[in-house]
Amino acid sequence: MKKIAILGATGSIGTSTLDLVEAAPERFEVTAVTASSNIAELAAIARRTRASLAVIADDSRLGELQAALAGTGIRVAAGEGALAEAAVSADLVIAAIVGTAGLAPVMAAVRAGRTIGLANKEALVSAGALMIEEARRSGAVLLPIDSEHNAIFQCLAGQDCDKVARLILTASGGPFRTLSAADMARATPAQAVAHPNWSMGAKISVDSATMMNKGLELIEAHHLFALPEERIDIVVHPQSVIHSLVEYADGSMLAQLGSPDMRVPIGHILAWPERMATKARRLDLLEIARLDFEAPDPGRFPALRLARETLRRGGAAPLTLNASNEVAVEAFLRGAIHFGDIAAIVEEQLDRMDQPLPPSIDDVLALDSEVRRTTREALKVTAH
Ligand code: NDP
Repeated sequence: MKKIAILGATGSIGTSTLDLVEAAPERFEVTAVTASSNIAELAAIARRTRASLAVIADDSRLGELQAALAGTGIRVAAGEGALAEAAVSADLVIAAIVGTAGLAPVMAAVRAGRTIGLANKEALVSAGALMIEEARRSGAVLLPIDSEHNAIFQCLAGQDCDKVARLILTASGGPFRTLSAADMARATPAQAVAHPNWSMGAKISVDSATMMNKGLELIEAHHLFALPEERIDIVVHPQSVIHSLVEYADGSMLAQLGSPDMRVPIGHILAWPERMATKARRLDLLEIARLDFEAPDPGRFPALRLARETLRRGGAAPLTLNASNEVAVEAFLRGAIHFGDIAAIVEEQLDRMDQPLPPSIDDVLALDSEVRRTTREALKVTAH
């Protein structure tokens, strides 16, 4: 029995993880499940999985969770310390909280030397150097759930990255791949979250529409596979059949293919180093018939340039990119700014910031809060 903790159990990745875990009760025991505020769903998940611990991030709602799980014997807790406790309660932690909110619990798991199935890319983007250094010290293992990085992990098949010429991250191009710049500037939240291939949470869906998601993934790949920015390429592949590729020094290219269903990479990580069955739709190559590739358009998707620049600058630039993007996306989703403002707001924050990455997670979180504060100030000017 593998012990699993699911951070962000009520979200899109959490739900796909539960689908697999609940279908194989003989393989997995759920130790802990967490959510931000969705009490009803969290309580239902805790009951179904018979988790030992249910954690709600918002401590003002602990009483509600206690009431919802009264008489079940499931321990309930709330707040940051409890999220960290959940993160170290299992052999394998599925890190599926959205945004930098997931950083402290992921770091708790890293410090404790756990194996982490990482979906929460923002945590790695914000504090990648610290996290990798701490993992080296503690022996923690970071396994990528993000489909592109999971594809690369599978194509590497245990080989060293020094035999790799370059990594190629594929991008669907998102819902605005063929939209004009003028139409993109006016796009609504409903249009931005309507991803053509993947069903995901709202934040990552907007990131896919701006292609900031691919920028964050570039930084994620740099940390996970220890390759410099210039050896990581991005190619638009609208069918989302090839999830990424590795080109080796000898000219061979290996690709991982699968239907656009997160249960494939999550299943790979849940079972790793073995394999497990999933109900994901099988690929029908004859039905697909062709695979297309195109270069991303740097004019309509400035987030890609910003991400490359932050990686070259290093220090706190990736943290700034991520924190200002989270604030801008949230403002866009509540209708306060236009779609076209997102990258401009991020660029403005990057221009203001020139600092090294702080040496501790507490300092990283303090700087993250400071960037959020200045971004919110800037939003007051931009908001319509
Ligand atoms: P969702 O928005 O669907 O779910 C987010 C989860 O995090 C929910 O359980 C939510 O709880 C919880 N959460 C939100 N805010 C906080 C907080 N402040 N403190 C603690 N918990 C919080 O996101 P996704 O599942 O789409 O994405 C999760 C992560 O996985 C992201 O980092 C994303 O980039 C990454 N990812 C997602 C993919 C996808 O297909 N969805 C693909 C690849 C990567 P509640 O429900 O109570 O709000």
